[in-house]
Amino acid sequence: MKTMEMTCIRCPMGCRLTVTQDGDTFTVTGNTCRRGEEYGVQEMRCPMRTVTSSVRVEGGRRPVCSVKTAQAVRKADIGAVLAAIRALTVKAPVAIGDIVCPNVAGTGVNLVATAND
Ligand code: SF4
Repeated sequence: MKTMEMTCIRCPMGCRLTVTQDGDTFTVTGNTCRRGEEYGVQEMRCPMRTVTSSVRVEGGRRPVCSVKTAQAVRKADIGAVLAAIRALTVKAPVAIGDIVCPNVAGTGVNLVATAND
């Protein structure tokens, strides 16, 4: 049996969760709503995060453009995603929603622009 305490980040209420795993069975307490239960189980099974950062832009109004992963990636892959972002330079113009790196770091998730540059 494994128990973890965590803060639910699905809304600003920030409920304090206790998640217990017993084999394939998960028990979540402290949540105010179902989203907290889903979050607690996901955190225990395989934590996921959306990565936000910025990439270098060549020929743009500004030297960098803000980006994010289009979906959440495994928390364990964040380092590889950030390394891929650091190694990336995109050419202007860049528009919000443009895919600046498909399948970033082999995660199956696209990296998209969140600003126009
Ligand atoms: S459990 Fe529900 S109410 Fe509490 S922080 Fe998570 S989403 Fe918000």
